[in-house]
Amino acid sequence: MKCNFLKFMFLINLSIIRGSDVCLKNGNSNCSDPKVSKYSKEVNTKYLKYLKDFTTAKESYTPCDNTKCGCYSSEVANDLKVFNKGISKQMVDNIKNKGTKYQIINHRLYRDKNCMFPARCDGIEHFLLKLLPKLPDTEFIINTRDWPQIHKNYGLFGPVFSFSKTKDYHDIMYPAWAFWEGGPAISLYPKGIGRWDAHRNRLGKIGNNTAWSDKISKGFFRGSRTSSERDPLVLLSREKPNLVDAQYTKNQAWKSDADTLHQPPASEVSFEEHCKYKYLFNFRGVAASFRFKHILLCKSVVFHVGNEWLEFFYPALKPWIHYVPVEANANKENLEQLLKFVMDNDDVAKEIAHSGFNMIWNNLKMVDVFCYWRKLLKKYTALLTYKPELDENFIEIKN
Ligand code: UDP
Repeated sequence: MKCNFLKFMFLINLSIIRGSDVCLKNGNSNCSDPKVSKYSKEVNTKYLKYLKDFTTAKESYTPCDNTKCGCYSSEVANDLKVFNKGISKQMVDNIKNKGTKYQIINHRLYRDKNCMFPARCDGIEHFLLKLLPKLPDTEFIINTRDWPQIHKNYGLFGPVFSFSKTKDYHDIMYPAWAFWEGGPAISLYPKGIGRWDAHRNRLGKIGNNTAWSDKISKGFFRGSRTSSERDPLVLLSREKPNLVDAQYTKNQAWKSDADTLHQPPASEVSFEEHCKYKYLFNFRGVAASFRFKHILLCKSVVFHVGNEWLEFFYPALKPWIHYVPVEANANKENLEQLLKFVMDNDDVAKEIAHSGFNMIWNNLKMVDVFCYWRKLLKKYTALLTYKPELDENFIEIKN
């Protein structure tokens, strides 16, 4: 404890000294702003808070044991807790219109003829088909929309699988289709971002082969305006392009420059190119955004804005250990302050970048995604109070 306290005080002194160094050496124009001067009480108080958050997080952190995808076990348990009295046929029937119904009978996979987003169903079925020999007879409803379906305070109640949710929903999270296919299609990934295995290999190599000191010391973001929570960073970039490069790209809903905050859309940038920058931003979109896991593999510091929207693996990622947490309603000043903090505390930034990389590289492999699906379906099926029977109208899904 004493040792940690001394380390904390050391970091504080270092941070304050470094802050002044950066100001003097770089002749950085931002330093002349009296509100954000490195010498100001306000900045030093903020820095102390960030450093305290960082050291406290480290003190209380115990790495997870990923044997049998153990890093994510608590999420399965959390999501199924509300159904611990059992899942009846009536409950499943009640919510059957909330998604696509799947059945596994005698190690064969069946589903409704209709799937709202065929590529997404394909992405899901890739995992189910491979796991069939290990799965019991079961049936479940999979929501392939972005948005979760079972609100805690209103509407229908029942077990619906969704890829993303907030704490306000009872949906059961499953690994998104985009781990295999059906992710957002942009010009660089016209068939959807998909194939996590391929992205992992490419980005992991880049993460490992790019020296920290070779990365550009600037914040970076590219993406469309799927949520206005992204606006303050884009506006900060327009004011201070040397501090951060954050620009809106087009998506399928784009109609005019109004949809890119009254500027023409920027060209899209590959994940690989993102890795050139030291500080990368992740924001929610309509629900959780798929980019979180990709940019963590750059071995850059990820600023994760907002903590409401989850995917199944998010709870295993810890603030100030694997990423820098940012309030969902952070304004330009808050973002600037945080960016300057990591710039002035390069060792802290590097440590977070490495931990974030290691967490995803070691614990979010394709085998972990399969493992999560299997664990989820086994635990879910154990709660069924009836034996599912094949619906004759269903189609069989084969490889
Ligand atoms: N994307 C990308 N380069 C770009 C724009 C987007 O790689 O220049 C990726 C982004 O990381 C995300 C997906 O495309 O995984 C869709 O991004 P967008 O911001 O349009 O929507 P989101 O899903 O984040 O709400």
